Amino acid sequence: MSQIKKIGVLTSGGDTPGMNAAIRAIVKAGIHYNIEVAGIFKGYYGLINKTMKPLDGAAVYNIIHRGGTILKSARCQEFIKPEGRKKAYEHMKAEGIDALVVIGGDGTLTGARLLGKEHGVPIMGLPGTIDNDLYGTDYTIGYDTAVNTVVAAVDKIRDTAHSHDRLFVVEVMGRDAGFIALRSGIATGAEKILIPEAKTYIEDLYETLEKGSSHDEGAGIIIVAEGDKFGGALEVEKKIKSRFPDFDVRVTILGHIQRGGAPSAFDRVLASGLGFQAVKALVDGRKGMMVGSINRQIVFTPFEQTIKYNRPINVELHSIAEILAL
Ligand code: ATP
Repeated sequence: MSQIKKIGVLTSGGDTPGMNAAIRAIVKAGIHYNIEVAGIFKGYYGLINKTMKPLDGAAVYNIIHRGGTILKSARCQEFIKPEGRKKAYEHMKAEGIDALVVIGGDGTLTGARLLGKEHGVPIMGLPGTIDNDLYGTDYTIGYDTAVNTVVAAVDKIRDTAHSHDRLFVVEVMGRDAGFIALRSGIATGAEKILIPEAKTYIEDLYETLEKGSSHDEGAGIIIVAEGDKFGGALEVEKKIKSRFPDFDVRVTILGHIQRGGAPSAFDRVLASGLGFQAVKALVDGRKGMMVGSINRQIVFTPFEQTIKYNRPINVELHSIAEILAL
């Protein structure tokens, strides 16, 4: 028989499509296991400031298809300090919350690890970030939707690129990781994909553009992750213009449209499965771990490891993308 009577759930860091599907699954799993679920608003800020309310089936009705997070998300500086976490723990106890499920990225899981370690709180984490850069899962919640959003946008941009013989440098999210850039770049047949994990020499870029001009005079798509080695799309544009002054080069920075919108079927299913498994894991006595999916199997990875290791990008796929772009 589980000792856990009440679970708190929060979303933290950047919002991602699929967070609502995860919240719904956590609440439904709570109903299944006869555990109360409290929704904590604005991430760790809500724990410190006691902004929470009980979530029942009605509260999560009609949300599986909605982007963003009904619990709102925030970045909370106070929680980074031990005193902030102590306050959070005291408020949790006062509210009768025995365990937590946190949904967020690397920072969120780092905070969860510390809260668990310092105060013995059972916590499970769900990978909620569009960047797909968490160790311990093949896919993070929101990544698939973000990639599809980029693909839909770039397909539209390509129509203009072709019609006007323009070269578009499209910047996508990914300060430290190029997962969105690589996958969307392959899916849109981008002429070049620039990611933080791979050094691209400027001469390589020029060579690609010279070759590309034989198909479609000066037209094409370059996908740039915001954290690429050149310093983002505007820097790439400058470099291209200095070498090819006759090219009509335009920059599109996709920005926050990548984080919003209805989650894809893939993200809804992933979030539903992981959300349920997080609650089941707490019932089974697990704690201090992120629930992920690797090769379609549920995998529990200790927070220490998800934080310490980076999920490597598939460099072979990047090389293949270069060949396919020629
Ligand atoms: P994203 O991938 O969208 O950036 P994230 O979870 O990495 O998501 P962060 O802003 O880094 O987003 O972290 C979310 C929150 O987690 C922070 O606002 C803070 O409250 C908490 N947090 C982050 N880093 C730490 C840390 N080192 N110690 C304690 N808490 C932390």
